[in-house]
Amino acid sequence: QIHNRAFASRNMDAVYLPFETRDVESFIRRLVHPRTREVDWRWRGLSVTIPHKSAILNLLDSVDEAARQIGAVNTIVVEEDGLRGYNTDAEGVLAPLREAIDLKGARVAIIGAGGAARAALWAFKREGARVTLFARDLPKAQPVAREFGADLQSLAEARFASFDLVVNATPLGARGANEGRTPATAEQLRGAGIAYDLVYNPSETLFLREARQAGCRTIGGLSMLVAQATRQFELWTGEEAPVDLMLEVATRALEKN
Ligand code: NAP
Repeated sequence: QIHNRAFASRNMDAVYLPFETRDVESFIRRLVHPRTREVDWRWRGLSVTIPHKSAILNLLDSVDEAARQIGAVNTIVVEEDGLRGYNTDAEGVLAPLREAIDLKGARVAIIGAGGAARAALWAFKREGARVTLFARDLPKAQPVAREFGADLQSLAEARFASFDLVVNATPLGARGANEGRTPATAEQLRGAGIAYDLVYNPSETLFLREARQAGCRTIGGLSMLVAQATRQFELWTGEEAPVDLMLEVATRALEKN
């Protein structure tokens, strides 16, 4: 809805469609890649989501440096004879924080160590923040923390009072099986500055409610979603994105949900 309304507002002959694929390699080879595809579709680009964001890297002709360092691609631009990958989550995660906090030297806690956490780690480190990763599975998260030069702590019994910013980069709280769950309670969050949930559906999560109860300022995931989508729009069209419209469409769609 975000992209389709944006295309329509600019009178672009373009449509954004969902494809669910189990075999991403043959999807790219047979349907997308300009040198091998078996249908003459005029792709301009693709968004890539769970669980294909890392596996897709090997199927591209070139990958932007940030996406390579993050190890995940969420955006593909289809060029004349090849595919180029980008990661717009890294810029997207920073956008809602621009007015809220100076990240240079800020103490940032990231909960989770998956794809979104990697994009956030990369972005916060670039901004000069001091980052601590909180994970339930320490041996699994250890290489991630080491790779990005972050500290690592166990999520069990975690306390966030000493952090300027706490980011939920787990799916806890998202619609479906994880709805009504939170990676941290008000008691654990008390004393922290800002609580930022990357989950955007629902817009009001238990993590945000607990954070408010603890006296934290809160930011939901929708503005990141829209920020990363505006960057995608710009990569695909070469034009500035209709940001206000995209935010309004996303907000309304979630309200109806
Ligand atoms: P992912 O790669 O699957 O990573 C999820 C992380 O959460 C893993 O580290 C996982 O730990 C941890 N986790 C899962 N369940 C947990 C639990 N019960 N307790 C503690 N940790 C748990 O997923 P992702 O791509 O990073 O996405 C994470 C969330 O961010 C999703 O809800 C997604 O929708 C959201 N997101 C939002 C935006 C946006 O634009 N707002 C962009 C990207 C992602 P294990 O490794 O131990 O399983």
